[in-house]
Amino acid sequence: MPPTNKIRLSKSVVGTREAKALSRIILEDGYLGMGKDVQLFEQELKRYFDTEREVICVNSGTAALHLAVMAAVKPADEVLVQSLTYLSSFQAISAAGAIPVPCEIIPETITIDLKDAGRKITNKTRAIMPVHYSGGAGDLNSIYDFAKTHNLRVIEDAAHAFGCVHKGKMIGAFGDICCFSFDGIKNITSGEGGAVVTNDDEVIKFVKDARLLGVQKDTEKRFEGQRSWKFEVTHQGYRYHMSNLFAAIGRVQLSRFPEFKKTRQALAKGYYRKLNNISCLERLNFNYEQIVPHIYPVRILNGKRDALMEYLISKNIECGIHYYPNHLLKFYRNHELKLPVTEELYTQLLSLPLHPDLTQKEQDYVIEQIKNFLT
Ligand SMILES: *Cc1c(COP(=O)(O)O)cnc(C)c1O
Repeated sequence: MPPTNKIRLSKSVVGTREAKALSRIILEDGYLGMGKDVQLFEQELKRYFDTEREVICVNSGTAALHLAVMAAVKPADEVLVQSLTYLSSFQAISAAGAIPVPCEIIPETITIDLKDAGRKITNKTRAIMPVHYSGGAGDLNSIYDFAKTHNLRVIEDAAHAFGCVHKGKMIGAFGDICCFSFDGIKNITSGEGGAVVTNDDEVIKFVKDARLLGVQKDTEKRFEGQRSWKFEVTHQGYRYHMSNLFAAIGRVQLSRFPEFKKTRQALAKGYYRKLNNISCLERLNFNYEQIVPHIYPVRILNGKRDALMEYLISKNIECGIHYYPNHLLKFYRNHELKLPVTEELYTQLLSLPLHPDLTQKEQDYVIEQIKNFLT
């Protein structure tokens, strides 16, 4: 039986507890801007990552990436990044005045291909931005080795990877600069939001000030419910701070994360197991004990992706394509650049519904419809 409601690709799973937290801020606290709840959310995230590294919350994942790039490189510097990523990775780099250099991916993990990245190194290359696609960080250790060899900063786009573990270590708890997103559909949401995690004192100071229009040490004041009336500014800043409203939602979501994690991992394992042995369908092989998948992409071969997608939509199943390659966008296009692996994978990737409210029954229906079409 087809479901009467559309099966959503992704969704915010929020309820009474988040509503109560908002109501506490609005009716009791009365302070909607950046204050105590942001400080508490940062402390709770720090405890969750089990790290001494600093967690700095901002109002989106894109803002986190933008400030991280600004802190790490100068205008006109080049940043290596896979073309197949959310537009946000590219926009964050160009917003900082730096140049995103689109690279190929390794098809098995959809992470940056270091051989290709190596060919694209110039005397202006200053950073690499690995994207933890679906939550998998690929061969992140080799990326750090590569960065060391070429003297590059590493800005991890960990928007998909909240709560993921890489070789026994929590993403965010190690490395150079790590950026998370808490937008509406990510592993946890704060409505909108993001965080920069790092142990680099210069970066910490820059990001803390830059999120508040560049006002020096305003963060400390706001956490005490005060403002700076006489202050100094030495660099460009933005209105990127997180509000108490967003932080209050984020804090509830963080406490619910163990349950979200279990469901996401179980659903991904279910897809992997049940989508075995279907002609024209190739599964990606992630370690679902270690990662908490943000999306569930598969590869549909023989040019059948678009037709399958249309079929699933006709069956009330929403799907997605992660992502349209950025090097094909007018703004970033370079006509000499060819990325054949990326361009081919783009035509094959299809993301299936995945969120903590997806039921077993709905998932079985999705799988049944895929089999109907492909076999
Ligand atoms: C969601 C996302 C971002 C940006 O996060 P926002 O909070 O939506 O600004 C960046 N990179 C990737 C890969 C993402 O999926």
